[in-house]
Amino acid sequence: MKISFPNMGPNWVAFKSLFTALDPNIEVILPDPTNREAIKIGVKHSPEFVCFPFKATLGDFVSAIKKGADTLVMAIDCGPCRFGFYHAVQERLLHDMGYKHVRVIPLDQADLLEFHWVKTLYEVSPPKNKLALYSGMVRAVIVFLKKAKLLSDIQTAEGIFRAYERNQGDTTETVKNLLIKLDEANTLKELRNFKKVIKEEFNKIDVDKTRNPLKVAIAGEIHISLETFVNLDIRRKLGELGVEIHQNLCLWDWVAHKFHLNFHRKWLEHLAKPYVPMDIGGECYWVIGEYIDRARSGFDGFVHVYPFTCMPEVTARTIITNRLKGIYDLPVIFFSFDEHSGMEGFRTRLEAFVDLMTTRRAHLKNKEKEGKESSTPEFDIGNHFYKECVQLINAK
Ligand code: SF4
Repeated sequence: MKISFPNMGPNWVAFKSLFTALDPNIEVILPDPTNREAIKIGVKHSPEFVCFPFKATLGDFVSAIKKGADTLVMAIDCGPCRFGFYHAVQERLLHDMGYKHVRVIPLDQADLLEFHWVKTLYEVSPPKNKLALYSGMVRAVIVFLKKAKLLSDIQTAEGIFRAYERNQGDTTETVKNLLIKLDEANTLKELRNFKKVIKEEFNKIDVDKTRNPLKVAIAGEIHISLETFVNLDIRRKLGELGVEIHQNLCLWDWVAHKFHLNFHRKWLEHLAKPYVPMDIGGECYWVIGEYIDRARSGFDGFVHVYPFTCMPEVTARTIITNRLKGIYDLPVIFFSFDEHSGMEGFRTRLEAFVDLMTTRRAHLKNKEKEGKESSTPEFDIGNHFYKECVQLINAK
């Protein structure tokens, strides 16, 4: 069995381990990083009005099949939007395209405490006795969760360090090297020590600690938020404009939520409830909560990214524009991505947004000096690891 799954940013590291730790005989084939060709194929063979992540992941599947994969794993949900149908429709499309030998196996992550995902691990695992099977599953889940958490730490550190780096590109290089190291770390001892490795590697970056970067939150639909090719590498672009990026959404955040252990998300739900009473799919519920939360914490701006035609995210955008913007006055910019997204207009909009936030910050400072406005709230943001990164920068 040659197994594969679609790209979603750096998360291939965790998903690869999920299968290799389950059984060393499972061969994992990674699709090529998402690219124009893959998108072209996905678009050509998908229904015109289906969501953009459907098209991009279909392109990834074709890339993996061409490299020899015969079993493709696609996450599914029971949510109110189209995500729950991806795997079934994609399998039919792949068969119609001539790849009749390929299976698309759903990985049910609607509620991880219902343990439907065990069925997927059972299905892809080579035949063996029950004891070996269950011990393999336990190990696979532990390695997967540890790597997902470490990927979240890398994302946190990347968001802050890029805003302070003196040599543009150092942070990007550090992240690249760390992903390779994390992919190679497969013993529990190595994974336990890996947080230290992350700190050591980031600490090597030459930073200018006198900067006071703008603080911007990014939120939106999960595939677009995490896959750098489809979001035009927005985290990097903003970071290189000197902005500190805060993004809660990552694989770890999502998995903790699906295990009912993500108390931060529960807080966001509480904030969003007056505007959206329930989860309507995508990240709508949490995007709204996050906009309110970030505005209250004194952020300089908010970036909302989503796929063109994504109904839940368009709903979030409408609520932010028509209700929340007037109440909280946190500058916000929206990016809807699809196969036609291009770099030039995108870059110009980002630069204009950074100018706007800079002017607004200066304006607020002046007002504060004149005593017309109470002082801007003290930042108490970010998780424990974010604070450790701030300490590393301040200690330089
Ligand atoms: S969240 Fe949006 S993009 Fe994703 S499946 Fe639902 S409607 Fe489509």
